[in-house]
Amino acid sequence: MASRANHSVLLGCALVCAAALLCSDATLLGAAEGQSSEPVAASTFPIAIDARLAGDARQTRFVLDLDKAIQFRAFALADPYRVVVDIPQVSFRLAAGTGTAGRGLIKAFRYGLVMPGGSRIVFDLTGPAKIANSYVLEAANGQPPRLVLELEQVDRTGFVQALAAESRPELRPAIADGAATAVAAEAAVASKPAAPPDLRPVVVIDPGHGGIDNGTQSSGESEKNLVLGFGLALRDRIEKSGKYRVVMTRTDDTFIPLADRVRIARNQSAALFVSIHADALPRREGDAQGATIYTLSDRASDAEAERLAEAENKADAIGGVNLTEEPTDVADILIDLAQRETRTFSHRFARLLMGEMKSTVRMHKHPLKSAGFKVLKAPDVPSVLIELGYVSNKGDLEHLVSENWRSRTVGSMAQAIDAFFAKRLATAGPAN
Ligand SMILES: [Zn+2]
Repeated sequence: MASRANHSVLLGCALVCAAALLCSDATLLGAAEGQSSEPVAASTFPIAIDARLAGDARQTRFVLDLDKAIQFRAFALADPYRVVVDIPQVSFRLAAGTGTAGRGLIKAFRYGLVMPGGSRIVFDLTGPAKIANSYVLEAANGQPPRLVLELEQVDRTGFVQALAAESRPELRPAIADGAATAVAAEAAVASKPAAPPDLRPVVVIDPGHGGIDNGTQSSGESEKNLVLGFGLALRDRIEKSGKYRVVMTRTDDTFIPLADRVRIARNQSAALFVSIHADALPRREGDAQGATIYTLSDRASDAEAERLAEAENKADAIGGVNLTEEPTDVADILIDLAQRETRTFSHRFARLLMGEMKSTVRMHKHPLKSAGFKVLKAPDVPSVLIELGYVSNKGDLEHLVSENWRSRTVGSMAQAIDAFFAKRLATAGPAN
């Protein structure tokens, strides 16, 4: 069992280790969200009261005392050896310097918010170790609820085997790249003046289809052109505020495979991914109209959503791309695990978008749906897909080609994006 006496002894080398920490893996946890900052409006979040280490170089235990039990997900990473614990957003009220000193297999650890609603603890290991045990205990015998992580020393082979058994994709928080840039800039500041890093949230706008893939077509209008025009107008509108860095998956009539669109969102550490499409209904299926907002799910919310996801997922086949990267069922399950928290944000944004759009834009009679869109499968990027309307419907098509309609719709989407990030910033601001 760990003791507070051990803990205070270990704090002795905190200053030495703090310098090393600055240079350690900041891609997993940003300096901006590190130990010194925590959410302002944190009263409703679980509170971490104390953290301690026990054990030796063969077996090391980490204990986090909380005011309520939480869910968590722990996994190991190699090169350098780390263990990552993802938890819901937690208000860390730990003593200053907690985590800068290690013990046993743990060199040091850091913690903080990695996205709205999501906190993370990253342990730097002294060598290969496996997660022998990890669990959350409810309050009992005068002890508060605790998150416990037990690490066991293994050799490199054992580590790789344990990792393969997990075969979990590496996760990257939404702010990773920006934070890494911030730390690099801090390190460089002594020798030469560096441009301030662009820490604005990245919004990726993804106009569907392009190039060889026209998308749906009606009355001489192609989905790929309509959504590109719309996407560029949306970019111009939200760039004007200066609050976001906007990245387009395409700015011209180019074919982009679905996996590349997802990759762009992940590589840019996007905080939001918005895919823009326009639907069409086969004539025999009657008429439908209005905009629909889709989020990702394993099972389509209805038959129409399923048909649409199937159609949109065919983009690669239409573009002639060999689907060698098609995820297996196992990979799908792992991605689903990682996606649980991301989905919360996707749904939040979808609801905000609906709230803004319904007052200015004609919506589908069931405007919020979900289905298995491949383009929404970045496990750590909140993502929605918007079907602006039906090119097969006369009224919708008139809207889709109207400058006035586009401007109003872009305006309501920009408002929803502002609302989404206003909430995010409110919960991510510094405190004490
Ligand atoms: Zn489409």
